[in-house]
Amino acid sequence: MTPLAAAATDRLVLMNPGPVVLDDRVRAALSGPDLCHREPEFADLLARIRHKTTLVAGGGDAHTAVLLTGSGTSAVEAVISSAVPPGGGLLVLDNGHYGERLADIAAAHGIRTHRLEAGWAVPVDLAAVERALVADPGLTHVGVVHHETSTGMLNDVAGVARIAHAYGREVIVDAVSSVGAERVSPAEDGVDWLAGSANKCLEGAPGLAFVVAATDAFERLGAFPRRTYYLDLHRHYTAQAKSGLPAFTPGIPACYAFEAALDLALAEGREARHARYRALAERLRAGLEALGLELLLPPGQRAVGLTALRLPPGTGYEELHRGLRAAGFVIYRAQERLAADHWRLSTMGRITAADIDRFLSALADLLRGRADSTDVAEGGTR
Ligand SMILES: *Cc1c(COP(=O)(O)O)cnc(C)c1O
Repeated sequence: MTPLAAAATDRLVLMNPGPVVLDDRVRAALSGPDLCHREPEFADLLARIRHKTTLVAGGGDAHTAVLLTGSGTSAVEAVISSAVPPGGGLLVLDNGHYGERLADIAAAHGIRTHRLEAGWAVPVDLAAVERALVADPGLTHVGVVHHETSTGMLNDVAGVARIAHAYGREVIVDAVSSVGAERVSPAEDGVDWLAGSANKCLEGAPGLAFVVAATDAFERLGAFPRRTYYLDLHRHYTAQAKSGLPAFTPGIPACYAFEAALDLALAEGREARHARYRALAERLRAGLEALGLELLLPPGQRAVGLTALRLPPGTGYEELHRGLRAAGFVIYRAQERLAADHWRLSTMGRITAADIDRFLSALADLLRGRADSTDVAEGGTR
């Protein structure tokens, strides 16, 4: 049997932070009809997706969504490259890999940045944000990651927005791994630009990303010179909002799946999804701690979608990955400075409590087997 055929029959539980295990209705929607993206059927689908995306992302009547074909990073890059005006600058709140990425994206477009580095897994210091904005009026925008997926930390986006707005600055939020499961609202939290993706807590198929902002804010982008052609947000906004059609060929099957996923998210409700994710994460975390494993963050800082933890003493990531993959689970490596001694477990997507229990028992078996073989190797008796 080919690996793909095996994957189709044996359910593999994806504990990587996207793409996620799909609901069967979302997966089935992928095989929708062949369609031309310039026909009225696609215009209708696009309008429905943009409306539902605005709702799940907490937008109000003054907000709208622009859909992009690309991964989450495409939405983040579209916002940064399009929204920071010529001569403007970006204050980057950096407390992990994705915070660093905001600065890297700005740099790639020649945008001046000031990186406020807190250190990985260290909460954003709001007083330092205020000092940086006071010191440098040329920093027109503040960039912050809502759920910093490299550590599992939830950042205080509303607190950042309050300070930024007090000084007349705009806030760009990478909500790629939070939207759908964590409370975030452009309308209530003062998020000026929200970047998200279909394939994390919104439980759609990979390949689509989106930006939610005030309609006025999209309109104002027309006055700025373009830094990019393909990711020019004003181009996408104009095409989608004025002619009702996409600027370029979209990932149509992913759009079918995304609408199905949005319908499920709206039917479930954000509070209920947050509660479902929280219950799963708490079940997992209690089990990990019962196995003697050490979680990276204290409880008050944790997002509901991902848990970072220390590698068991004497066990490498590769060995854990191999053993758990054989048991039907895909775990995820930690990045950069955490890679040597940490790993990550996502609970985004259609993972069940029974999956978590099976995972914990597979992990317990793996660690027990390892302890036994270490004893043998060391000639130990028990
Ligand atoms: C997953 C993720 C992204 C985007 O990653 P892609 O591989 O482009 O989908 C961006 N920011 C955060 C916080 C993420 O978790």
